[in-house]
Amino acid sequence: VTTFVAPATVAEALPLLAAGGTAVAGGTDLVVAARSGRRALPPAVVSLHRLDELRGIERSGDGSLRIGALSTHADLERSGLVRSGWPALADAAVLVGSPATRNVGTVGGNLANASPAMELGAPLLVHQARVETSGGRRLGIEELLVGPGRTALEPGELIAHVVVPASAASAYVRLEYRRAMEIAVVGAAAALAVDEAGRIEEARVALTAVAPTCVRAPAVEAALREATAAVFGDAAELAAEAASPISDVRASDRYRRAQIAVIVRRALELAHERVCM
Ligand SMILES: Cc1cc2nc3c(=O)[nH]c(=O)nc-3n(C[C@H](O)[C@H](O)[C@H](O)COP(=O)(O)OP(=O)(O)OC[C@H]3O[C@@H](n4cnc5c(N)ncnc54)[C@H](O)[C@@H]3O)c2cc1C
Repeated sequence: VTTFVAPATVAEALPLLAAGGTAVAGGTDLVVAARSGRRALPPAVVSLHRLDELRGIERSGDGSLRIGALSTHADLERSGLVRSGWPALADAAVLVGSPATRNVGTVGGNLANASPAMELGAPLLVHQARVETSGGRRLGIEELLVGPGRTALEPGELIAHVVVPASAASAYVRLEYRRAMEIAVVGAAAALAVDEAGRIEEARVALTAVAPTCVRAPAVEAALREATAAVFGDAAELAAEAASPISDVRASDRYRRAQIAVIVRRALELAHERVCM
């Protein structure tokens, strides 16, 4: 038997979670996994849907973006603020599942579920985002994502907000076999700042679905520093150094490894087009 409660405030939710309750936001990972028989529904479910404190997408005084954990992928997709200032996040949100999935699946759920193929991981990594938790902790995305399905959250601790600093132009691209209802085979995000002479001042690159978590690609970033767009192809070849892909139903490790450079180059080119817009 599963019990279900829907507290009205975070203060009411925390003791229920501390007592062993499991948070559910949109339910598109948790409930769908239970329905399909992959994982049993937990014995005590604490729904977050009434916690308005965890909603909203706004710009803070320091120019950073503050995203409530209950914001949905559709909220990101529709936000003019996100599309103009943090476009890799909008690129990623648009790719998630179907409109139904995007309308209920949340940012907090995507991060806490910690799938290596999660869409928001790589864009948040290149934008150097951090999460603020209900315990008052601030964790960088690379600290939060510990392994497949594992995060650094303490039992009963919630992701409350995601804070994304003001940043360079960005893009997220994924390789998939069809345009919708697909999970990333390989994905890449890039963030770039370029000076007037076309020299790259800042470059960050992160990969999806090719390692136990979404990861940065430091060798690519180093190769781009002070270079120009002419090196994108060669720099992208170095991305596989950050990868340890597995073979699964969607692709072999060899295929994934072969595609990484292609997807990284496309992400760099799209981010670069946006710098120049
Ligand atoms: C048909 C379909 C297609 C999909 N396609 C994609 C895709 O293309 N890309 C992709 O990345 N994902 C995809 N997903 C997965 C899923 O939709 C996303 O990961 C979504 O963002 C999960 O959010 P949720 O609110 O539904 O999470 P839930 O299922 O409610 O929760 C997931 C996990 O996170 C925990 N949790 C939820 N909110 C919080 C919080 N604030 N703090 C701490 N823990 C929390 C829950 O306890 C649970 O363990 C798809 C799912 C379906 C069903």
